[in-house]
Amino acid sequence: MGDAIAKDHVVEFHYTLFDTEGAELETTRNEKPAAILHGHRNVIPGLEAALTGRQAGDSFEVDIPTDQAYGQRRDDWTQRVSKKYFAKPKALKAGQITQLRLESGPRPVTVIKVGAKMVDVDLNHPQAGNDLHFAIEIVAVRKATPQELSHGHAHSGGHDH
Ligand code: ZN
Repeated sequence: MGDAIAKDHVVEFHYTLFDTEGAELETTRNEKPAAILHGHRNVIPGLEAALTGRQAGDSFEVDIPTDQAYGQRRDDWTQRVSKKYFAKPKALKAGQITQLRLESGPRPVTVIKVGAKMVDVDLNHPQAGNDLHFAIEIVAVRKATPQELSHGHAHSGGHDH
């Protein structure tokens, strides 16, 4: 028996995210599993609660209501930002979901309008206002290292330092 998932553990897991109609929105199935430091708000509250107590090898599905996911949409939460904050400024188009590259880390936004130098974006998380459904497979569970605890995130997976 491996460790059960609890605070200060690193959890590696595959997930597939569906909307309430069952359409697949995103998945880690074709890449490395996601890696999080449990109990440190690395994921939405409903997903953290659903992971607690599980073990490597567990597979399960869970419904997460809006309030335990990305919260309600805020009307008119838009901003005009420089194109320099985007990885591929020339490819931007209205309606696209992409990431703003901020010093605090990437932030998903929806493009509203593209100008010559500036871009209008909707800062609501693309999944704000939605109930979500996840299919989860726990790949690995281990105790976090002191360095991971001090950084507040896992060093498994794609994290490079
Ligand atoms: Zn780190």
